[in-house]
Amino acid sequence: MQKEIVSFSETDDNDFDNELLDALEMERSAIQEGLLGFMTALPTTPEFITYEAVYFPKNHFIRQENMATEEYLSYFFPFDELDFVKRGVESRWNVSDTSMIALTMAMGSQPQAVTMSFQREYAESYEWLLKEFTDWAFTFVSAFLYYQDMDKLDDMQKDLYRQGMAAFGGIAPTYHIELLEKPTIVWDFHSLLLAIQMMFSFMLTDENSSLKVCKHCGKVFLASRPNTIFCSGQCKNQYNVYKSRAKGRKEDLTDEQ
Ligand SMILES: [Zn+2]
Repeated sequence: MQKEIVSFSETDDNDFDNELLDALEMERSAIQEGLLGFMTALPTTPEFITYEAVYFPKNHFIRQENMATEEYLSYFFPFDELDFVKRGVESRWNVSDTSMIALTMAMGSQPQAVTMSFQREYAESYEWLLKEFTDWAFTFVSAFLYYQDMDKLDDMQKDLYRQGMAAFGGIAPTYHIELLEKPTIVWDFHSLLLAIQMMFSFMLTDENSSLKVCKHCGKVFLASRPNTIFCSGQCKNQYNVYKSRAKGRKEDLTDEQ
């Protein structure tokens, strides 16, 4: 009996250890890929912290159009009480340890949204990130299927695709011009989300984009040439085999008639 209890608690511990390992692994890859500071559900202005309330463009995560700034901040600082002094335009992060002071000074010229995502206590909901990635995958595949299946889609299906695509979009980043070797536009992204959304949009609309969906297996792949439509030689062969078989069946049918 005693032994059973012991082994039972050991199993529990193992489960807990595994969960912890998963979480740590996720954190490690998020840091490695630079995915912290995503800032899902970003308010319309990057300087939102100096306002009493924040306003949101349409998003999946916060359904309200606006909310008190401090309530909004609590979404991204769920674990620690936020050390933040709110006095209108004079609002500031109240940091005390030296590394954070250095960081905040380095971020001095950056929008408040950027400073926020670099605070030590900053956190982001895993569910939100997951949803964002799923939506991108959906948008990406829709952009291909719409044209690939155009002849097979009826008007209602086409309309659904178009509506789904129109729902994708973000807040426009601001920009300024720098006098480098020649006058150059510099985009001011105030969140990682915004930067990724915009690059994703350029990629979707770029005819020469090297990211494609395989015509046979439907997997996403990087094409070495602009006119490649299959992810591998195997897929190309299989597709052609199926196509000629289908053609053969059709001819068989015609013969019988
Ligand atoms: Zn393939």
